[in-house]
Amino acid sequence: MAITSIDPANGKVLRTFEPLSASAIEEKLRVAQAAFHAWKATPFSARSAALLNAAAILETEKRTLGELLTREMGKTISSAVGEVEKCALGCRFYAEHAEKMLMAEQVPTNASRSFVQYIPLGPILAVMPWNFPFWQVFRFAAPALMAGNAALLKHSSNVPQCALAIEDIFVRAGVPQGVFQTLLVEASQVEQLLKDDRIVAVTLTGSEGAGRSIAGIAGSQIKKTVLELGGSDPFIVMPSVDLEETATLAVKARTINNGQSCIAAKRFIVADPIYEEFERLFIVKMGALRVGDPMADSTEVGPLATEQLVNDLQKQVDAAVSDGALIKTGGKPLTGPGNYYAPTVLTGVRVGSPTYYEELFGPVAMLFRVKDAAEAVRVANDSPFGLGASVWTKDPGEQEYFVQNLEAGSVFVNAMVASDPRLPFGGIKRSGYGRELSDVGLREFVNIQTVWVK
Ligand code: NAP
Repeated sequence: MAITSIDPANGKVLRTFEPLSASAIEEKLRVAQAAFHAWKATPFSARSAALLNAAAILETEKRTLGELLTREMGKTISSAVGEVEKCALGCRFYAEHAEKMLMAEQVPTNASRSFVQYIPLGPILAVMPWNFPFWQVFRFAAPALMAGNAALLKHSSNVPQCALAIEDIFVRAGVPQGVFQTLLVEASQVEQLLKDDRIVAVTLTGSEGAGRSIAGIAGSQIKKTVLELGGSDPFIVMPSVDLEETATLAVKARTINNGQSCIAAKRFIVADPIYEEFERLFIVKMGALRVGDPMADSTEVGPLATEQLVNDLQKQVDAAVSDGALIKTGGKPLTGPGNYYAPTVLTGVRVGSPTYYEELFGPVAMLFRVKDAAEAVRVANDSPFGLGASVWTKDPGEQEYFVQNLEAGSVFVNAMVASDPRLPFGGIKRSGYGRELSDVGLREFVNIQTVWVK
């Protein structure tokens, strides 16, 4: 089946590509392995110079690259340009800090000398999603390349042009041929890649289903895996906050990236004394969002990336409603061309109904009323996921209580959950395992080697 790039704003086919043949894959693997051996021996200063070049290209070309992201997956142009800028930041961060973070550490023991050193592993396979088609790749690639690994990208089948553009950026930046390669392959070809000895590890950002499959195959091959999977992040609102401001941020946290972010807030858990007013404000603000052409600067919510996502979201909304939930605004796709879905608020989603436990990957929010902080934590933790959580309270005691009790890879207090190159990013439970970003992410794909000299 051809890999097809479709504009989600109008359904027009932009380009199609044939998936790589077995012999083309073989050649890419051969090149990757050879390139890895040379890159591993390349000094940090040269790797860093290439990453800084990549950052400069991203910054110079952010508008054209942003337009490519918007055309291929529908995110608003301002967020697409912002994403490209963030990739430049990620490249700079690792270009400047990786050498120090990976410096050998002397450890005093009864040996004459003992230390820990960090050695690159080899070609790493990155299976990536379409929702942040640049950032997801760069946040893996910048540390992996700085550590001296080679990378092979299998991107989502709906963003092949982004995938090729990323390879082109690294090549133009001076990363030697073969160190970063895009493989235009289908999901069904991943198993064969994972079973190839030249691929030493895999990172996946994507759905639970893909995680299960990839971790299963990688497990059978005893290969290191990092999984960044789905989330259903809670957004907890307590009485001490400014409701108007918090409701505005709640809408932003739900609809960021047209509602298609793993760390978008999806479950809004609101304390009883302020529930009615928060619900009113939230519904008004969700209903007032400007939905439309993602290329227009004034648009706040663009189309979903694929028609399938619209259909899946509608099924989840319908299931919640047939199980007793109420639609307070939205609840259906917009008419006309493109994959547009109306920003939606659901209340009364029954505990135990399938939608209650699922990730809603689009602009659909679920609101829950709780009596106090303890019940807020119980509801927040009643999820198979554990990616991020944000809590909104001015009360220091409550802040501490939430920070100590929420089950999530990150807890943000009075701020939206976000990724930052300086801090580890990842989840627990079915949101996956392993971490990206910071020094922790840099060390995921290295051999942490102990050396003992007597
Ligand atoms: P997806 O369907 O799992 O696809 C992600 C990638 O995995 C694509 O490249 C896809 O290829 C590939 N893939 C899918 N099934 C596979 C299989 N069985 N074997 C091998 N490869 C497979 O996920 P998505 O719909 O693109 O992305 C949305 C999901 O990603 C959401 O759950 C979201 O929360 C999660 N996400 C998580 C994070 C995080 O950091 N935790 C960040 C962003 C997104 P094809 O496109 O060819 O199918």
